[in-house]
Amino acid sequence: MKAYIRNFSIIAHIDHGKTTLTDQLLKRTGTVSPLEDAQRILDSNPIEKERGITIKLAPVRMNYKLPEKLRKTLHFELCILNLIDTPGHVDFSYEVSRSLAACEGALLLVDATQGIQAQTVAHTREALDLGLVLLPAINKIDLARERVNDVIDQLEETFGFKKEDILLISAKTGEGIDELLQEIVKRLPPPGGEEDAPPRALVFNSIFDTHLGVIAFIRIVDGHITDQQSLTLIADQSPVSVKEIGIFTPNRKSVEKLNTGEVGYVATGLKDMRTVRVGDTLTDILAAKSIQPLPGFRTPKPVVYADIFPTQEGNFNELKRAVERLKLTDAAIAISQTQTKTLGAGFRLGFLGLFHSEITKERLEREQGVETILTKPTVEYEVVTKSREKLSIKHPSDLPDPSQISKIMEPMVVVTVVTPRSYLGPLMQLFQERRGIYQNTHYIGEQVQVVYELPLAELISGFVDQIKSVSHGFASLDYKHIDSKSVDALKLSILLNHQEVEPLARIVVRQYAQREGKAIVERLKEVLPKQLFAVPIQAAIGGKIIARETKAAARKDVTAKLYGGDRTRRMKLLEKQKKGKQKLAQLGRISLPQEIFTQIMKA
Ligand code: GDP
Ligand code: MG
Repeated sequence: MKAYIRNFSIIAHIDHGKTTLTDQLLKRTGTVSPLEDAQRILDSNPIEKERGITIKLAPVRMNYKLPEKLRKTLHFELCILNLIDTPGHVDFSYEVSRSLAACEGALLLVDATQGIQAQTVAHTREALDLGLVLLPAINKIDLARERVNDVIDQLEETFGFKKEDILLISAKTGEGIDELLQEIVKRLPPPGGEEDAPPRALVFNSIFDTHLGVIAFIRIVDGHITDQQSLTLIADQSPVSVKEIGIFTPNRKSVEKLNTGEVGYVATGLKDMRTVRVGDTLTDILAAKSIQPLPGFRTPKPVVYADIFPTQEGNFNELKRAVERLKLTDAAIAISQTQTKTLGAGFRLGFLGLFHSEITKERLEREQGVETILTKPTVEYEVVTKSREKLSIKHPSDLPDPSQISKIMEPMVVVTVVTPRSYLGPLMQLFQERRGIYQNTHYIGEQVQVVYELPLAELISGFVDQIKSVSHGFASLDYKHIDSKSVDALKLSILLNHQEVEPLARIVVRQYAQREGKAIVERLKEVLPKQLFAVPIQAAIGGKIIARETKAAARKDVTAKLYGGDRTRRMKLLEKQKKGKQKLAQLGRISLPQEIFTQIMKA
């Protein structure tokens, strides 16, 4: 049975054609009818669709009828192909590695017009580390036949593939797809695992369903599971009462049994996503004590923190309900309550990265219907005080006074950028300005790969956009978390009208404190609307003002020019003003429209 299964992923940089190829494979194998839009089945989340980034897809099972010739050499007729998707964003790299761990092989898809990009490199390394067999394919040959040889060279040089092993395809026109399917069966190995052993299944993804509870996507590594069995998750220890088990066709279809090597799902009935973690091992409740958990499980750790507040006063309870519901469907978010003078009660949220924070805010708005203010994300600093106390600082305003600090550690990442050679100079300069530590460069055809260590704090404050703009969109980037390094940093406070606005505080490197303080007050002066009085905008370090601007007062009262004029017009205006006021955020005497407040948060 195992011998007829191939479990694989597609590794590709964004836009290199993963979705189009998946679509093509589904149609070629008759998994969906040629008229159905497979893309619609696969990209299910509206936020993902709009951003063109896939966060997670359901795996899909295809029954591939071998062509006559292959049937004769391999001695079987039908092959089960399980295509397991990997998330498309670096914030979810842990989930990428778990998805890959559920496979024996991967298609490495490279766009003929683009060549190797940062995500190609990062994911390929990951797959090779996990011992996967790779099947390289150059896509979009209909667009750029003349570029194919260059990309072949790149693949040879960078990963050591042989020219004759590289497939040439067009996911759009369908050219080369039949051959690709045959090569998947021929070259990718069938699953290993022991059929008679106690069951072990890898959870590589999970979703929440209102009726079935948490649905775990699993790959059976050893043994089998049935819908009658009592199961448990090793890391979490909670018993799982199986509501249903099944396969993806691509829609969920229930079955009675899943065998070694198969990919499918278990509906657990559990109501909290946090009990079913990606990477955990699912097994029989009686075997749990005696079996070895599958390797590599860890709980994804938040690396970026931001505070979230309701936009209108008094909406805290609504926000609280929304955040609690969200918590049940996203196991990766860390949540604690927070209290500020300026914005009242809110939550401190921990995310896997910037993208994760953005989609979370968006999900709260779309799925839960609450409007929120999200503060500028910060990284987590580890502080050792002079009295040897260890603190974990997740918001700038929690940083102790410099006189009490003995050491501050900040999180670091190693960043890989792949760029056309002509942008190398400006990119390296950018890294330098952002406190990057040079590691190495490698040439990939006419492109170059450059590697730096960089503080995560720099990466999350506009760095990615700068890389894009410096390279006119041609450079691509990927990163990995590494050990933290010590940093000489201080808290920079922002004061409006002599009052500190804690959510605007930030941690800055001592050396650049002056420059940053100046830049921030200038930006704030620009976005702050005029008030009826002049507003001083100040940046301060430990009570000492290091930068100052003043926003001049508005000249007139809104109704002044209508004084003595038409009464109804005046009434209307006042009414409008009243409505507008309900939407204003209050910072002491300063009132701000929500819109502006959000901009200020980003300043
Ligand atoms: P993904 O981000 O890797 O999922 O990439 P998509 O499948 O969404 O493809 C990105 C773009 O490239 C889309 O506009 C596709 O229509 C286009 N595309 C994908 N494969 C081919 C191909 O073989 N030939 C051509 N001409 N366009 C393609
Ligand atoms: Mg896609």
